[in-house]
Amino acid sequence: MTQQKPIIGCLALQGAVELHRPHVEACGATFKAVKTPAQFEEVDGFILPGGESTTMLKLIERFDLWDVLAKQFAKKPVWGICAGSILMAETVLVSLPSSSRWRASSEALAPPLSRGQALGSGKDEPQSGSHMDPRRLSVPSERRGDDRPVLQKSFGLLPITVQRNGYGRQIDSHHALIDGYEVSLIRAPVITAVDDSVEVLARHEDTPIWVKRGAYMASTFHPELTQDFPSPMHKAFIEIVRSSVQSAS
Ligand code: GLN
Repeated sequence: MTQQKPIIGCLALQGAVELHRPHVEACGATFKAVKTPAQFEEVDGFILPGGESTTMLKLIERFDLWDVLAKQFAKKPVWGICAGSILMAETVLVSLPSSSRWRASSEALAPPLSRGQALGSGKDEPQSGSHMDPRRLSVPSERRGDDRPVLQKSFGLLPITVQRNGYGRQIDSHHALIDGYEVSLIRAPVITAVDDSVEVLARHEDTPIWVKRGAYMASTFHPELTQDFPSPMHKAFIEIVRSSVQSAS
């Protein structure tokens, strides 16, 4: 029986899009850069690329794509990379100016998620749920004038808490090895809490950097910059997409 090639759509509003193509193609899948509702319909799974989550959010709002994306994400696998993982997280903390390293402030900022908190059925399938809560501001904390953590809006696909720029500034960007494969953490968020239902696929300095729950996967690092095609993470995601396509047919 011939299997149809799954189509992987990389959200192409901003960020590192084209670098995913050789990895996706090396997995025997089709790569498409997507930015319109009609293109979103055509794909079997989404990559939300690394880049700048605040810029992506602005463009999503400007082009009125929030609801249409939330609907697509509710029924298809999604993999968020760095900024993309920020868009997927249930809770997004905007780093405070006084905390260049997350460790100094993680306790105060990130109480662990309570079990079962707004988690849906917990079944092995995409969960819907977008966060339109107006308290989720993207106003920099220094303008708020108090110590309460500032939250950034997100699609809330994975029950994890992330702190944006949690490792520090651009200069604190670094590499990590995951089973011998080199990945880059570039102004990456730190995952400061994960719900028990989330599988941790890799850690770096004891902190989860690659997580998965059902058909949703997130990595705080960039695997697409390594020219060793395909990356283990692309392989893993395309397996998720293949099984979701199979179970739908
Ligand atoms: N710091 C960026 C953000 O907050 C993410 C950086 C990246 O995607 N490499 O969106």
